[in-house]
Amino acid sequence: MKKFESDLKYIEQIAKEKQDENISFQTHLKEQDSKKIDKIVHRLYKEVESQIDCRDCGNCCQNLRPIASHKELSQFVAEENIESLMYAESIQCMHHKDKVCTDYLNRPEECRLFPYLGEDDFITKTYSAIQNYRICPHVYNVYEGLKTELNWQYNPTSNNKK
Ligand code: SF4
Ligand code: SF4
Repeated sequence: MKKFESDLKYIEQIAKEKQDENISFQTHLKEQDSKKIDKIVHRLYKEVESQIDCRDCGNCCQNLRPIASHKELSQFVAEENIESLMYAESIQCMHHKDKVCTDYLNRPEECRLFPYLGEDDFITKTYSAIQNYRICPHVYNVYEGLKTELNWQYNPTSNNKK
């Protein structure tokens, strides 16, 4: 059985190193057949998910970003922290304790859908995939697996060549 990468520090480092490569692959993906890509992404996601348990990770819950309204943020973040969110790179959800969601059954839809790899039209959502690649081992392994399955290799001297 294939071993997937789950080391968060390592993944963060690779994300920095592969910034240009990942953008180049994003461009390549936009030219691909959407249904074909979805099929591969859904299969890879199942494989990765079966081996990397979110209960051993919880990294997304520690990386909430100020992309929501004050009202929406109040569901996740203590009131006194909301003001400083504009300047925060990331902040932990207040329901996140010891890698577990303490309000799992009531978690918002965004939490249920994250990291969006079970949805269709992956090629139109690659911007968020690249953002989440850095923090989510599921996204990291699926994005890397997709490069391998498409037999794609980064060529830094070209915009985007196989
Ligand atoms: S969705 Fe990704 S970042 Fe969130 S807990 Fe699961 S593996 Fe970790
Ligand atoms: S509500 Fe639960 S799943 Fe959503 S960010 Fe908070 S701890 Fe994570």
